[in-house]
Amino acid sequence: MQSETGRESLWERATRIFPGGVNSPVRSFRGVGGQPFFVREAHDAYLVDETGRSYLDYVMGYGPLILGHAHRQVVKAVREQAQRGLAYGVPTQLEVEMGEFLSASVRTAEMLRLVNSGTEATMTALRIARGVTGRRLVVKFAGSYHGHHDSLLIKAGSGAATLGVPDSAGVPPEIAALTLTVPYNDAEALRAVFQQYGRDIAAVIAEPVAGNMGTVPPVAGFLETIRALTQQYGALWVSDEVMTGYRVNFGSVAESRGLNPDLITLAKVIGAGMPVGAYGGKRAYLEQVAPLGPVYQAGTFSGNPVAVAAGLAQLHVIAQERFYLELEERTKTLAQGLVERGRRHGLDVSVNQQGAMMTLFFRSTPPRNFAQVQQSDQDRYRRYFHGMLERNVFMPPSPFETAFISSAHTDDDVEMTLAAADAVFRTL
Ligand SMILES: *Cc1c(COP(=O)(O)O)cnc(C)c1O
Repeated sequence: MQSETGRESLWERATRIFPGGVNSPVRSFRGVGGQPFFVREAHDAYLVDETGRSYLDYVMGYGPLILGHAHRQVVKAVREQAQRGLAYGVPTQLEVEMGEFLSASVRTAEMLRLVNSGTEATMTALRIARGVTGRRLVVKFAGSYHGHHDSLLIKAGSGAATLGVPDSAGVPPEIAALTLTVPYNDAEALRAVFQQYGRDIAAVIAEPVAGNMGTVPPVAGFLETIRALTQQYGALWVSDEVMTGYRVNFGSVAESRGLNPDLITLAKVIGAGMPVGAYGGKRAYLEQVAPLGPVYQAGTFSGNPVAVAAGLAQLHVIAQERFYLELEERTKTLAQGLVERGRRHGLDVSVNQQGAMMTLFFRSTPPRNFAQVQQSDQDRYRRYFHGMLERNVFMPPSPFETAFISSAHTDDDVEMTLAAADAVFRTL
């Protein structure tokens, strides 16, 4: 038994036990030599796989690791809390500190709840919006990802103002029909949807900077239109900042642009790599949540002390004044360097960059919505990804993902990345 297992590759064992060999579909990609790599450990900006090969990492756990892997202060906080117990099922001082910290830096979150993932946060935010308004419909934007619950795994129908169809088997069409999908950055399409369905719309959920179709920033006036229309029709604006919160800037991106959403969802950076999510909003809305009100939401691990200790430790480090300035400078150097080198080799390339998020697109102009993202040369992106991986640089495997830069990425790392890209672009 033992020796038989020993002869099998990890990949063979994984594919027998997990669908596609993975526990989340984005992890299903071929590594160097054709098989996925399995990570043994990670430090700073580098992953080390089971064969000992090391990769400069721009996936960074898909966003949470803004300080890099295994940051000393985060690890210390986890270790110290673990020694005092892993879960209590009773409130802790740590949770209160975390709640106060988030509320102090995100104005919208007058009250909030800690949960375990971004999916849980957006699911509950929509439930609150429906509970508060007594309405059924929600609006999302094409190419945005808000988690894998039924209401949000929805694709647009044929036209901009049609009811949604399921994006996954197992989502009943009756549920999909409650979600309307509009192109990102299309204020007119959003207006048309409100004109037709406005009195049934409970919420508009939007990433203030889209990150799940690759990075796509909002055009001038787009977020303002969401604010104005939701207000006009009595719907709630849910700013889904699971990816962007504390990533593009300290706190909320919508707020940093002078806007005031009704509800906000957070995860990723606030957990530092541990499972932490949060939803927050005006006191009147959060008071609708059980046990105070009729909107039910619960969780065995919500506010887990080890996870919260990790998140708080990271938040305290990134609260330092110059943190985001330096991070953004380095991200800009990388983004502009990639475009310059691509063009030097005659490639149609463009980049979207916001704070420490960026995506390189194989098309001549930066996309503003999902349709334009899909018009980029996806096959060329895949060859770029594999070329970079062979040179020990781990970029997001999908052309629809964002690359994340952490404070552990050095100027030398960026330079090494640009040199690798130069060599790869020559072969594309
Ligand atoms: C990652 C993400 C989610 C889902 O979060 P999970 O923790 O993976 O459930 C939701 N919304 C946005 C904007 C995200 O980037």
